[in-house]
Amino acid sequence: MNIEQQINQLREELRQHNYNYYVLDAATISDYEFDMKLKELQALEEKHPEFYDPNSPTLRVGGQVTKNFNTVVHEQRMYSLDNSYSKEDLLDWETRIKKLVDGDVSYTCELKYDGASISLTYENGELLRAVTRGDGIQGDDVTTNVKTIKSVPLKLKGDYPAKFDIRGEIVLPYEGFAKMNQERIAAGEEPYANPRNTASGSLKLQDSSETAKRPLDCLLYNLAGDRLGIFSQYESLEKARDWGFKVPEESRLVHSIDEVLEFVNIWDVKRRDLPYETDGVVIKVNDLQQQEELGFTSKAPRWAMAYKFKAEQAVTKLNKITYQVGRTGAITPVANLEPVQLAGTTVKRASLHNADQIEKLDIREGDTVFVEKGGEIIPKIVSVDFTKRDQDSKSTVYISSCPECGTELIRKEGEAQHYCPNIDGCPPQIVGRIQHYISRKALDIEGLGGETVALLVKEGLIRDYADLYTLKKEQIIPLERMAEKSADNLIEGIAKSKEIPFERVLFGLGIRYVGETVAKKLAKHYKTIEAIMQASEEDLVSVDEIGIKIAQSVKEFFNTESSKTLITRLIDYGVQLQISAEKLANQKDTLNGQTFVVSGVFEKVSRNELKKLIEDNGGKVSSSISSKTSYVVAGANMGPSKLEKANKLGIAIITEDDFLNLLE
Ligand code: AMP
Ligand code: ZN
Repeated sequence: MNIEQQINQLREELRQHNYNYYVLDAATISDYEFDMKLKELQALEEKHPEFYDPNSPTLRVGGQVTKNFNTVVHEQRMYSLDNSYSKEDLLDWETRIKKLVDGDVSYTCELKYDGASISLTYENGELLRAVTRGDGIQGDDVTTNVKTIKSVPLKLKGDYPAKFDIRGEIVLPYEGFAKMNQERIAAGEEPYANPRNTASGSLKLQDSSETAKRPLDCLLYNLAGDRLGIFSQYESLEKARDWGFKVPEESRLVHSIDEVLEFVNIWDVKRRDLPYETDGVVIKVNDLQQQEELGFTSKAPRWAMAYKFKAEQAVTKLNKITYQVGRTGAITPVANLEPVQLAGTTVKRASLHNADQIEKLDIREGDTVFVEKGGEIIPKIVSVDFTKRDQDSKSTVYISSCPECGTELIRKEGEAQHYCPNIDGCPPQIVGRIQHYISRKALDIEGLGGETVALLVKEGLIRDYADLYTLKKEQIIPLERMAEKSADNLIEGIAKSKEIPFERVLFGLGIRYVGETVAKKLAKHYKTIEAIMQASEEDLVSVDEIGIKIAQSVKEFFNTESSKTLITRLIDYGVQLQISAEKLANQKDTLNGQTFVVSGVFEKVSRNELKKLIEDNGGKVSSSISSKTSYVVAGANMGPSKLEKANKLGIAIITEDDFLNLLE
C-alpha cells in the first residue's frame, strides 16, 4: 500500500468511526484507539501535504481562523415559519391548504429544535459550504467552524444527488451546555445565558479550534434543490439519514390534524427527556408536489406550520412601569421586574404593549405577576396574582405627556398606541429615524453605528438623515472614541450609501407601515420618488398589496414640508431616489396587468424561474384561480380541481411554450 492509499484508508476508517459515534451514538472502538488513528493520520498528512483534503477528519479539530465571515446569498431562501397555538389554528390552516391543492393531504410531524439554523451545501458528496440563516436571503459563511461539528458529515454515503442544500439546526445539548457553564463559573467568568444563543455564538467564533471544543450537534430536517428524485418530506428525511446525516427519529407521518395533535401532546411531555431543547412541533405537508402548489408567502412556506409548546411561566414582582419612545414616536410601556429565571434566561423587563393592555391586565406597580416567554424574544406578562396585591395599591395612570420631550401625547381613532407628535424635536425620534436610515436593510452605512448616531445628534452635528451627507471629517475627529481612521471610514461609508438602490432608500426614509416589501412594491411600480409623491391615495391603493392604511401614511409623510425638504436635499446629495437606468432597462412591461397561476411540473424552466420571469416582465403571480386570473400556465400533473375551476371560469390554460412565446 502506498502512502496515498494509506492516508485514504485512515480517513475512511475515521469517518466511519465518527459516524458511528456521533450520528448513530454507537461507537465500535475506544476513544483511545480513535485518538491513536487520528494522530497517525495527522502525522502522515503533515509529511505529505500533496494529499491535502479539505474534508479530512483531521480538520475536525479546527485551527483555521476566520477574521471576517463572508456573506453568501442562499440559492434558495431560508424562510421562517408561521406559528399556531391551538387546534383551531391548525384546522384553519388545513382549510386554507385544501382550497389550494387537490386530493388528500398527509403531514410530517417533526420536533422544532431550538438552536441556530444552518444551510449546508453538498457537491458530489462533499461538504462545500455551511451558511447561517442570516436574514433568510443571505447569511454568513461559517464552513470552517461547522466542519468541526462531528455529526456533520464531510463526505456522504449511498446514492446522494450531485448537488443539493440541506437545512437543519445546530444545537447545544443541555449536558454539554451545563458543563461549559461549570467551567466558566470555575474560571470566574459569567455563565452563558442559554443553549440557543451559545450555539449560534459558537458558529461565529474566529478560532475554529474553539468551536471544535464545544459539544455542538447538527440535526437536519429539510432538503432543497432541483430534481432530487424525492416525492415527499418523509421520504427526504429517510434519504438524508441514509446519506449519513443525523436526522432525529421522532418524526411521524400522519394523515389528519387530530393525529398531529396527538403527536403534539405526546411530545409536549416526552420532550423533557430529550438531550436538547425543543420549543414546538413543525408540521409539513408531506407531498412535495403539493408543497410546490402551495408555495410561500413573503415570510414563510404555506405548506408548513409551527405549533408552539405552551411556554414556561415564572412569578415575580413588578417594580416599576416606564415608557419608551420609538423612532415613529410610538410609546411603549415597559414593565421593570424583579429579576427572575425563565426558560434558561434571566428576565428583568417585559413589554406591556399599550394603555389597553395595562387596563386589561389591571396591572399596577408592586403587583406580583406571571411572566411567560412566548414566540417573541421579549417576555410578556400574562396575568396578575390579585391575591397578593397590597391593600393601598393605586391603579396605573397612563402618562399623558412624552417622557422625553414633555409634549402632550396623542392617540388616533382606532389605534392602540399613544404617540408623541413632536416629530422634529423629540430626541429619541430624531435619533431613531437616523438609526433606521443607516440600518443594514436600509442604507447599510458601514462604519456608523447606533451609538455614534446618538452621539452625533447629541453634539448637534446632525438632526436628520440628510445631515449625514454634510458631515466633515474635522467635525467628527474631536468626538469621543473617534480616531482618524474611524472618521475616514464613517465618511467613506456615508459616501458609499449613495449607491444603495432606490427601494432600500425608500424603506430607509422611515415612513410608517412602509416596510421592506412595501418599499419594493412602490419602487417597482412608481420608479421615481416624484411619482410616489404625486400619487393620490386612490392611485396608491390600486398598487398590488398596498392598502388604505399604507396609502394614508405615505400621503401624510410626503405632505409635510419637512419631508419634502428632506427629499430635495437627498436628491441634491446624489442619493438614489429613482430606479437605476440599468434596472429600468431590464424591467419589461410585456405582461403588465396580467395575473398568472402556475400549476404542475415544467420541463424547460423550474417553477421558480417561471414565477420570476412573470414578475420580471411586469406580471403578477397568484396562487389560486379566480375571475381575475389572466392565464393558467399548466405543466405536467396539473391538479384536476384547478383544471375544473379554470374551465368553469373560462380562463385560458397555456403551456410552458405558449408562455415563453408570450414573452417574445
Ligand atoms: P421561527 O424562527 O420561529 O420563525 O421558526 C423557524 C425556524 O425553526 C427555522 O428557521 C428553523 O431554524 C427552525 N426549525 C427547528 N426545527 C425545525 C424543523 N423540524 N423544520 C423546520 N424548521 C425548524
Ligand atoms: Zn417626545
